[in-house]
Amino acid sequence: MANVTAYAAPQAKAPLELTTVPRRPVGEHDVLIEIAYAGICHSDIHQVNEDWGTATFPMVPGHEIAGIVSEVGPGVTRYAVGDRVGVGCFVDSCRECVNCEAGEEQYCLGGMVGTYNGTGRDGGPTYGGYSTHIVVDENYVLGIPEGIGLDEAAPLLCAGITLYSPLKHWNAGPGKRVAIVGLGGLGHMGVKIAHALGAEVTVLSQSLAKQADGLKLGADHFHATGDPATFGKLAGSFDLIVNTVSANIDLNAYLGLLATDGTLVNVGAPEEPSPVAMFALIGGRKSLAGSMIGGIRETQEMLDFCAAHGLGAEIEVISGGQINEAYRRIQASDVRYRFVIDIATLNS
Ligand SMILES: [Zn+2]
Ligand SMILES: [Zn+2]
Repeated sequence: MANVTAYAAPQAKAPLELTTVPRRPVGEHDVLIEIAYAGICHSDIHQVNEDWGTATFPMVPGHEIAGIVSEVGPGVTRYAVGDRVGVGCFVDSCRECVNCEAGEEQYCLGGMVGTYNGTGRDGGPTYGGYSTHIVVDENYVLGIPEGIGLDEAAPLLCAGITLYSPLKHWNAGPGKRVAIVGLGGLGHMGVKIAHALGAEVTVLSQSLAKQADGLKLGADHFHATGDPATFGKLAGSFDLIVNTVSANIDLNAYLGLLATDGTLVNVGAPEEPSPVAMFALIGGRKSLAGSMIGGIRETQEMLDFCAAHGLGAEIEVISGGQINEAYRRIQASDVRYRFVIDIATLNS
């Protein structure tokens, strides 16, 4: 056991502060990663605030981790010292259930082990990426290809795979009309990936404030949902809509934008239930769906895809001392499009 420097929330809703947390010794199949960058995901803030239920404190958030392997256990075969690697939203799972067997560990029936605010298979709490080092089983570590900077790669481990997985599952590609709702940390990766997959991409954003950005990121069209005329104008226009907004939206209005057989996939999680009128689904054989991150195999596929297409996240790099300010700015939607902590400056 070694203590490592980290930024942690000492209790629910409290500002994060510099501290140390224990990391387990490097086991047979473990990899020790010297973390270079950690992205700040909106769900980090939700978990610190206990918006999603009772949490464990102190909490070291961070599940968008990129770094370099600095030590490997004797049984490790997938990685070597010096490799560029990443860790996403989970660091273990039961490895035996039908979903783990299928490589969909994010849907592990026994419950995947969250990278932070989780309980490891050793019974101890897990601590995330706002820290200098992390120890992870090699089977839950991703390789980051040359060609993507570790800083712009970090957000791919959550934001990237959260969009890549549904876009692939619902066959976004040439001839498909895809709308991305919300142009934030998740949405901006959705635009980039859907465009690289060859789909016709539309951004549906509250206002036209980010229109120039959206088009530059690869969108073909950009519409303001704050303008009520938009929903009439675009009725029946999309094969696939991916909703990245974590506040409640009028699902019935968005279902009206789908073409026959279209699907509205939600990747954001509002705290309150959203009412759905069944007629909005029945008229047009439409589907309302959800999707959560992706499995290890698909996450690796996403990283390889992004490297091959020169895609990374649009980032603003900050120091450890700026984390609390970044939290405030994320809640005010004042970031284009992802904060990434430079771990070398964690204590400055
Ligand atoms: Zn996340
Ligand atoms: Zn499982």
